[in-house]
Amino acid sequence: MPEESQKPEWTPPQAGQEFASRVMKGIEASHDGLARGTGLGGGQIQPDPPLIRRRQLGLDDYVQGVLAGDRTILGRAITLVESNAPAHMELAQEVLKQLLPHTGRSIRVGITGVPGVGKSTFIEALGTYLCEQGHRLAVLAVDPSSSVSRGSILGDKTRMERLSREPKAFIRPSPSGGTLGGVTRKSRETMLVCEAAGFDVILVETVGVGQSETTVRSMVDFFLLLMLAGAGDELQGIKRGIIELADALVVNKADGENKVRAQAARAEYARALRFLSSATEGWHVQAFTCSALTGEGIAEIWAVIEAFRETTAASGVFAARRQAQILDWMQAMIEEHLKTLFFNHPGVKSIRPQIEQAVLAGSMPATVAVQMLLEKFEGDRELTQDEPTTHHQE
Ligand code: GDP
Repeated sequence: MPEESQKPEWTPPQAGQEFASRVMKGIEASHDGLARGTGLGGGQIQPDPPLIRRRQLGLDDYVQGVLAGDRTILGRAITLVESNAPAHMELAQEVLKQLLPHTGRSIRVGITGVPGVGKSTFIEALGTYLCEQGHRLAVLAVDPSSSVSRGSILGDKTRMERLSREPKAFIRPSPSGGTLGGVTRKSRETMLVCEAAGFDVILVETVGVGQSETTVRSMVDFFLLLMLAGAGDELQGIKRGIIELADALVVNKADGENKVRAQAARAEYARALRFLSSATEGWHVQAFTCSALTGEGIAEIWAVIEAFRETTAASGVFAARRQAQILDWMQAMIEEHLKTLFFNHPGVKSIRPQIEQAVLAGSMPATVAVQMLLEKFEGDRELTQDEPTTHHQE
């Protein structure tokens, strides 16, 4: 193709060039529901040079670029992984397959809490601290609402400004995926790509509402719940179930006049924790205070996370959880895929409205309706499977 031959060859990054660029260079438009340049993912700090943006990358370009820690290619590899286009998905899976042996060597930390609790301030404080300690940090978000709200977490460029200028940090807003399953698949795979690129700490932020906490818990090693003093559990939307997912509770904003109240809240949570079961076998969940604003308590929380890693690695719980997570993930993907197949099946789609009407009118029991839809789905699939033979004979 003439168009192809005009494209410049990709050359691997030179020594010392790794991580030289700033945040998010090279990410294509609107993968996260944001217009180019409006979010952290939009490359607002340095727009792509047009040549780089046009250049098509092949499998080796992606794999070698990510492994070399080339940020531009890393951003594009993530965009590829996030894409829903069938052609991209095939290449993305091939890229992931080749990157897989280089993944898994990070600590994955999930952070949740209601809006306003201080998640991004906390991530900025912890992230900056970790970079100072020599770590390389990738910050991802899981927010199934982002396609509607145009990236409600990590999407606002005013957030984490300090961290976004940090060369050792890489910030990626939530992918827009529609369903939680879609967002999770993308975030999990993005996490693997980041690990292959050499990031040794992955922070996954999620909004403190709904099912996304359970989902994020299922993809991280350590899960941290940020809380506020004196807001009341009801107000914070904290259910016992969510506390039971956490490996640490942290009462944030323990500064100024709020410090005493934060400490009292911490003591209260510490008492409550005695009656709850731990999310991680052999790990004693504790409550802490910190101030994401002043940085007080941040280093201590990191020390807790490191102690967690040591304890669970020694007991085998760390590795066992990761293994279980892979199987859970597989199962979730099968379920998601089957659901999509079923609901997009032309036969099912054509009879579903009438069947639903019949159920609503009371003329058909719901169980019979389900049976009919499933039979339609399975029957038509059998027919489709026979089809190739017929075509062959023609
Ligand atoms: P998020 O919605 O959970 O990400 O919360 P943000 O990080 O955006 O913080 C919400 C507000 O709380 C902002 O105005 C922050 O400046 C403030 N905030 C966050 N952490 C602290 C803290 O430790 N102390 C105080 N006093 N304010 C904080």
